[in-house]
Amino acid sequence: LTTVYAQPGTEGSKVTFKPRYEHWIGGQWVPPVQGRYFENISPVNGKPFTEVARGTAEDIDAALDAAWAAAPAWGKTPVAERALVLHRVADRMEQNLEMLAVAETWDNGKPVRETINADIALAIDHFRYFAGAIRAQEGTLSQLDDNTTSYHFHEPLGVVGQIIPWNFPILMGVWKLAPALAAGNAVVLKPAEQTPASIMVLMELLADILPPGVVNVVNGFGVEAGKPLASSPRIRKIAFTGETTTGRLIMQYASQNIIPVTLELGGKSPNIFFEDVAAAQDSFYDKALEGFAFFALNQGEVCTCPSRALIQGSIYDRLLADGVERVKGMVQGNPLDLDTQVGAQASNDQLQKILSYIDIGRQEGAKVLVGGERNVLDGDLAEGFYVSPTVFEGENSMRIFQEEIFGPVLSVTRFTDYADAMATANDTLYGLGAGVWARNGNLAYRAGRDIQAGRVWVNQYHNYPAHSAFGGYKSSGIGRENHLMMLDHYQQTKNLLVSYSEDAQ
Ligand code: NAD
Repeated sequence: LTTVYAQPGTEGSKVTFKPRYEHWIGGQWVPPVQGRYFENISPVNGKPFTEVARGTAEDIDAALDAAWAAAPAWGKTPVAERALVLHRVADRMEQNLEMLAVAETWDNGKPVRETINADIALAIDHFRYFAGAIRAQEGTLSQLDDNTTSYHFHEPLGVVGQIIPWNFPILMGVWKLAPALAAGNAVVLKPAEQTPASIMVLMELLADILPPGVVNVVNGFGVEAGKPLASSPRIRKIAFTGETTTGRLIMQYASQNIIPVTLELGGKSPNIFFEDVAAAQDSFYDKALEGFAFFALNQGEVCTCPSRALIQGSIYDRLLADGVERVKGMVQGNPLDLDTQVGAQASNDQLQKILSYIDIGRQEGAKVLVGGERNVLDGDLAEGFYVSPTVFEGENSMRIFQEEIFGPVLSVTRFTDYADAMATANDTLYGLGAGVWARNGNLAYRAGRDIQAGRVWVNQYHNYPAHSAFGGYKSSGIGRENHLMMLDHYQQTKNLLVSYSEDAQ
């Protein structure tokens, strides 16, 4: 049974976008000080559907004013009450799951089956997780001697800045908002200019739940709006997700103000298939083939995209042939159709970047086994930004194996033995994700420990539970997201060392 959601702007659509979005500051729509707006284009059909305030330093200042006004009361709100607010946010999102999912699909181009089952569902769970986590966080008290007590308090940092990318607009926003709010901070968030709308739909939905000023959203471009936020002396921390080159700039800005930085950056994740995977033609082998095809999830616009498949020589031909068949069976089409598995790239720039990397791969001598071109869909989707899932065969030294393409492009090569697999897997600037597929548990464990990456999936891929730490080694970032430990990134530690003795020291 196929269900196709109605396009926004047509009858029966689950979501109605405003024709224009102002900034969301102090719980209200606030027009940009300089009065400028930019068009927001849906990748589904390549057409503009709303315009959005184009923020500058003045707007960031106004948002920081609102955040500073809200921060003291929010930080002192009892933990149980803060947790309740997060639960209410989660409930409201759940009641509007399809609406948010369609908004996200229209803004970003990803299939609605994913926005329903992953993006929005995970975002809801994230709020619930941190609502629970903050209540379970207890301080410590130690008695150092009979008269001396050492108290450890968790304090909110105050006002924090957050800058997010376009590949999971709502989920990346929530990964940052949930722990920051749970810990009692007020936030100024800047979404990516390619996907500014869905997060504004979310703000409107939560307007009566979040106290005014606790979350402020200023849209705009990197240097115009992101830089004044990240370099402001009025933030106590900056959290950033985006490209490694931008991450370097964020660190420079933050160094002026001596504030902590967390960075979630790029990746070029290896997906390693050891020979015992193909020992039987069973459901495990089938699962591994699904793992091979996961590079096309979210159109490859995932920082952990398993964009390099490393296959042991003895099973190389067979696994590659079966894997390519699997890729050929993937359904690309209207992202609003529940049957669609591969949707549109988030922007025309991204589409062009991916096509140019496909050219680079060909020029380097890599062989295209499937895909390798833009996919022009029928009817009014003909101008949407679609790329056919593409599999290259080549060598790890090639640019298509070393540089992040951020598209549905897989580069496949072979390895001889365990040492060769580890050397190839770790021969990269990045260290965000990795996959290991093996029936031998000892081998899988060893590989999991030897790969230089913050998240190694064993016999699975692309699973993002709120209670598992996520983040990068090497040029993939600093700090972690998800998990209890995230609270530490949004809290100051106060130590109070008290003597209860009346004797001289
Ligand atoms: P980007 O770095 O170009 O932009 C990210 C954000 O930074 C946007 O909001 C942008 O406006 C802002 N920005 C750009 N220049 C800025 C500046 N000078 N000062 C302040 N802000 C600035 O990245 P992108 O192309 O939007 O996102 C794709 C990248 O994000 C990929 O490299 C991907 O791997 C990475 N990513 C990483 C993770 C992770 O968790 N590690 C998750 C998602 C995406």
